[in-house]
Amino acid sequence: MKLLALRCPQCDTWLQPGLHDVVLLCPTCATAVALHDQGVQAAPLTYGIPTTTKFAWYPFWLFQGQVAIRSRQTQGGSRADADAAQQFWREPRRLYVPAWELTVHDARELGARLAQQQPLYQVGDKPEQPAMQPATVDPADARKLLEFIILTIEAQRNDWLRDLQFDVQTAAPQLWALPAQQTNKGWQVGAVVGNR
Ligand SMILES: [Zn+2]
Repeated sequence: MKLLALRCPQCDTWLQPGLHDVVLLCPTCATAVALHDQGVQAAPLTYGIPTTTKFAWYPFWLFQGQVAIRSRQTQGGSRADADAAQQFWREPRRLYVPAWELTVHDARELGARLAQQQPLYQVGDKPEQPAMQPATVDPADARKLLEFIILTIEAQRNDWLRDLQFDVQTAAPQLWALPAQQTNKGWQVGAVVGNR
C-alpha cells in the first residue's frame, strides 16, 4: 500500500494504521475508515448491542449466503450426517467471518460456531466512544476464510469428510462491530440477539 494522505475523510485527523489494517476507526471522530490503494474512504459500520460491560469491539464481515453442496464424500458415517448437511445448507445462512488479526484456527472455530448458531444480532447505536480492533481481513480474504469455515462445519460432522465440493453465492459482506471477549472456551460474542 502506498502511503497517500492518510487522513480521516470526516475530520482530517492523521491516521496511523498498522501494516495490515484495512478498516480502522478514526481516533478523533470514530468514523470507520477503509484503506485502499487509492487512499481512504469512510466505510459503513453496523454496531451490535452489548449484553455486558466486559468486552471490546471487534470487526466481523457478515455474509448472507446460499451454500450449494455439489458433492460430499465421506469415509463412513450414516445417511443422517449427509441429510443434516443438506438440511443445514438448504436455506440462506448468515455467516460471520472474524475480521481482526487472530489465528486461522480461532477464526475458523468462531466462524463455524456462529454459523451453527445463526444469531441475528440487533443493530445498536454508535457508542459514545467506540474503540474497535482494526480489521485486517478485507472482503476478498474474508470470502476465502468463509470457505474454510464451511469446510470446518462439514468436517465436524461424524462421518469422516473426505472431500467437499460446494458453491457459495453471497452479496458483498457488511462490516459489523460486535462486542466480544476471549475466554477459556474460545471467543465469545456478547451481543443482543433478536428475531426480526
Ligand atoms: Zn475522524
